[in-house]
Amino acid sequence: MTTHRTRIGVLTSGGDAQGMNAAVRAVVRAGIRFGADVFAIHEGYQGMVDGGAGISQLGWDDVGGIQQRGGTVIGTARCAEFRERDGRRAAARNLLTHGIDRLVVIGGDGSLTGADLLSQEWDSLLAELVAAGEITAETAQAHPALMIAGIVGSIDNDMVGTDMTIGADSALHRITEAVDAIASTAASHQRTFVVEVMGRRCGYLALTAALAGGCDFALIPEAPPGPGWEDEMCAALKHGRSLGRRDSIILVAEGARDQHGARISAELVKHELETRLGEDTRVTILGHVQRGGTPSAFDRSMATMMGYAAAEELMSATPADGAQLIGVRRNRVRRTPLMRSVNENKAVSQLVDDGHYARAMAARGESYAELHSILRAIAHPQPTPTSVPKRIGIVHAGGLAAGMNTAVRAAVRLGHDRGHTMLGLERGFSGLRHGHVRELTLADVEGWTGLGGADLGTRRDVIEPEHLYALSRAIETHQIDAVLMIGGIDGYDSVHRLYAERAHYPALAIPMICLPASIDNNLPGTELSVGADTALNAIVEAIDRIKQSAMAARRCFVIETMGGDCGYLALMAALSAGAEQAYLPEEGITLAALQADVTRMTDRFREGRRLFLTVRSERADDQYTTDVVSRIFEAEGGDLYDVRQAVLGHLQQGGNPSPFDRVLATRLAAASIDALTTALARGETTAAMIGLEHGALVTTPVADMDELVDWENRRPAKQWWLGMRRMVRDLADPPTAAELAAQSASAAPAGTTSTNGS
Ligand code: ADP
Repeated sequence: MTTHRTRIGVLTSGGDAQGMNAAVRAVVRAGIRFGADVFAIHEGYQGMVDGGAGISQLGWDDVGGIQQRGGTVIGTARCAEFRERDGRRAAARNLLTHGIDRLVVIGGDGSLTGADLLSQEWDSLLAELVAAGEITAETAQAHPALMIAGIVGSIDNDMVGTDMTIGADSALHRITEAVDAIASTAASHQRTFVVEVMGRRCGYLALTAALAGGCDFALIPEAPPGPGWEDEMCAALKHGRSLGRRDSIILVAEGARDQHGARISAELVKHELETRLGEDTRVTILGHVQRGGTPSAFDRSMATMMGYAAAEELMSATPADGAQLIGVRRNRVRRTPLMRSVNENKAVSQLVDDGHYARAMAARGESYAELHSILRAIAHPQPTPTSVPKRIGIVHAGGLAAGMNTAVRAAVRLGHDRGHTMLGLERGFSGLRHGHVRELTLADVEGWTGLGGADLGTRRDVIEPEHLYALSRAIETHQIDAVLMIGGIDGYDSVHRLYAERAHYPALAIPMICLPASIDNNLPGTELSVGADTALNAIVEAIDRIKQSAMAARRCFVIETMGGDCGYLALMAALSAGAEQAYLPEEGITLAALQADVTRMTDRFREGRRLFLTVRSERADDQYTTDVVSRIFEAEGGDLYDVRQAVLGHLQQGGNPSPFDRVLATRLAAASIDALTTALARGETTAAMIGLEHGALVTTPVADMDELVDWENRRPAKQWWLGMRRMVRDLADPPTAAELAAQSASAAPAGTTSTNGS
């Protein structure tokens, strides 16, 4: 009897989704690192049913450089034979031919259901194969169970058990790009556009794209509009026009319906608008564009996390575990029993089909309903007569971050909805001191949703003691009842100082909220800040180009990212772009580490590889600067390879905000206006930080700031993402000969011995 290494099969099945390649790469590399042989099953279940060339082993380098490609390099298909038992019997036999009894299945709920069925039937299929003489009894005994890890690849984001599915964020990028483009032409002609997006039973794409695109309406399957919706829609559009809006865009999910279950098509919406408003209306159906294109940074990093976790899961899986779904919940990998999630998901779809809309909406989770109600208020602010009008000042402080304008627009519109007067405090706190205060109307912030930059102006300076008197006078003079600070660490520092001086300057004792906006993602009270996702996408796009430029030579790149004293951007960029190394301020750089990297590089290039990518955070180390690191590598490289440095600079702060940052900015602005309105109504002087912790909105008192911030290093004392460091290392280099020897010396996991057919 020979002992075999664990063998894992990986397939992508059903509809393709951007990011599937990053998952495949992570499964293959993590599998090999953990001591397994990994096989691609090509064209979904078809490769499994057909066997032969349909299943092939993948090596470390076979999955190099694929994560930036859309679609799936191992193919996907819909396979009718696999739905039949005979097809699944052939599939089981073909898997055993290669000794595979562990599978990572990346697909939608159909594909995952198929995988579960195969694992349920495994016993009886093997018995049939033994009876027919197609496999031996020993083979059957050696593989008593088929262990499954499922990953959801679906652009619709329609799965219970994971906050996001692979491809949804990239699809949102495509839709938002299209909506931005349509908005500019619509505004030029004062036209109305109806845009249809995917989502038969899940309105996630339509709803989030409507928020990200600053659209007027979203028609989604889970929230069908009531009778008379056509009049309501037209009245809202007219109202918008009267306030100076030049374009109107309505997003329709392909599964949108009315309360009687009758379909609301884009054409129907167009017809209603044309007859009721007499306006020229155009329809755009986005279709497959949504599945295409380069995966977003988030889809790459999340798919990498999931693939890595799936391989890890299968290495330790036992037949008793049952099939597992590898999802993400609140930025962390989360495992749930596969069929529980699939069945719950089917139940939600059924609720939609049966007309139980409120229950379907609730089942999609709290934030889904929250986004839906934000869209109504933000698209059509209607001041509530009962609210007590107050004057809320909005100010930026800290470095520029894409999404600042988005947050201001949302705050202004939602503030108006609550009946407040909204004020722009221009050019930061120093502008306020000098009286740069102006009222912001809805028309003032028109078109700011997708606009990069910060039109109110932002400053990096921090409030000094000598500014306090002038500041408190300005607050009194302009009758500012509350302050919303949208900015970075300098802004947090400033609000903290204002808070501490309340006893001396009573004018400062007003409600204040900090809304996190910084590309560095280094703010307390939140796991993510507005602008970081946009910066990451900019970095990852730049690295894609840099990689392409290096195809011919043997070259090491040292790429410098921003991030201040926080390594978030560098680490996440390295993970998304598949870099070999990330140098972070949290760890510093040592000569020994550089020496080790030179050795890695030399080995690699001698083996014939062409590229070695390192990402260095701008303040990773005071002495080993990007230039010094590059020179050391160059000096050591001799004729073997050359070295180039690329300091990415301000392209990371510029550009229009990503859809994720727009939605985040909007959610945080809504929570801020809520918190300020409540405080003002109760006469409280709350000073708090709004944030997203574990995926949920939270407020943390400004009084806790000192405990949460490492002021010396200007970053949070605890950083949740540092745990991902290990993945960059594990996926960068194949195991060394010594590591391989250690692996084979350790006992093979149960169920990996085989005597036949492998
Ligand atoms: P998705 O995985 O994107 O939901 P499908 O529902 O088309 O896409 O499923 C993809 C493939 O998964 C199908 O073509 C089939 O091979 C397999 N499959 C789906 N549902 C089942 C099922 N109930 N039993 C067996 N195989 C299935």
